[in-house]
This record gives sequence, C-alpha cells and structure tokens, in this order.
Amino acid sequence: MKRILLIEDDAEIAKLLRLELGEAGFEVDWASSGMSGLVRLREAAPDLVILDLGLPDLDGAEVARRIRAGTEVPIVVLTAADAVERKVGLLSGGADDYILKPFHPQELVARIQVQLRHREGGEQVRVGDLEVHTAKRQVVFGENELRLSPKEFELLSLLCSRPGKVFARQEIEDHLWGRSLDKDSNVVDVHVANLRSKLREAGAYGYLRTVRGVGYALRQRDKD
Ligand code: CA
Repeated sequence: MKRILLIEDDAEIAKLLRLELGEAGFEVDWASSGMSGLVRLREAAPDLVILDLGLPDLDGAEVARRIRAGTEVPIVVLTAADAVERKVGLLSGGADDYILKPFHPQELVARIQVQLRHREGGEQVRVGDLEVHTAKRQVVFGENELRLSPKEFELLSLLCSRPGKVFARQEIEDHLWGRSLDKDSNVVDVHVANLRSKLREAGAYGYLRTVRGVGYALRQRDKD
C-alpha cells in the first residue's frame, strides 16, 4: 500500500482527503503545519507528499524546497493561487505537480497515480557513454554520476526511451505532468536548460538536441 503524507492545515479538507484517498487505496498520514509535516516526512518516509501552500507557520514553497533538499519524494501542491509565474516557480523549484483549489478528489487521485507511476519500472538505457538506470534513478556519463532533480530525470528517461525521436513540448508535458500546461508556461524549457547544463558539466556534449519550433531529442544511438 502506497503511503501519502498530507500537509494541510484545514481540518475539513484534510478529513475529506483522508477519506477519499483511503478509498482509493492509499494510507494517509496527516500533518497540520509545515514544521510537523517536515518531521513526519523524516519519520514516515512516505511515497508521495500532498502539500497545501497556505500553511500557518511556513510558506508552502519553502516547505517544498526543504522537502526537496533532503529527498526525491514526489510533491503535489494544493494551491488557490493561479498566477502562472507562481506555478512555474513551484514546478521548477521542487514540486512535481500542482492542483488548484477547489478540486475534485478524483482528479487529485489521478495526478497522484501519474506521479507514482514515474517512480516505478526498472530498465537501463545506454546512449553513447550515457547510462540511465530507471529503477535506481541513476544517470552516469563515463565516470561521472549526474545529480538530477526528479523532473530532469523523468525528462531524460523519456528522451532516452526513443533516442533520435523529437518529442514535442506537449508530449513532454503529458508525460511529466499527465496533462498539458498553460500555453505560455516555460516550465519545460527551464527543465531542458537545467538538464543540458548538468549534462555538459558531466562532459556529455551534444546529447540533447533542440529542434526549433518542434521539440527536443536525445541524439541517436551509435551505429555499430
Ligand atoms: Ca491552508
């Protein structure tokens, strides 16, 4: 059974979510403040965190940063704020997905399942000197191990699944978030830019290709 840590100060919403998520087959642990959430995270090692942004003690975005600093657990944010900038900041700063309040619990369950699916599976893909181990969530180039954020890892895994294929931004969004983001969102570009600079730092030049106006691709496997 997958365990979810719910960090939400509103007792009514927490009660409803515990019920709905329990029915969907999840075990739910509830913390009513940012600090107690961070403590529970260490104690309970959940499979996923649902994080309300409007908490009484700490700013939710700060809680997301602190969670991300210590673990790779997927974070789904609950927020009333719908400004694009805020969402972009959240998605590039540690959260894996967000859902706007008010929302239908079934939609939240669907988002949770998308995030949990990304953590499963166990192949190993090799392109040139780049190796991606899906189960271990490890990326190695030659002697160097790359330290990728969860989204950067998922992006690279997607591109690696079909080396040479150009993935459109929409396909990438569908894979990483289970849906399309706003038209003017540049979240994908931010993740691509970060992934590219980490590949270069490790010495992997020319692996990530931008096809202007179309999308992104990983270079093809060497012909042998
Ligand atoms: Ca709240």
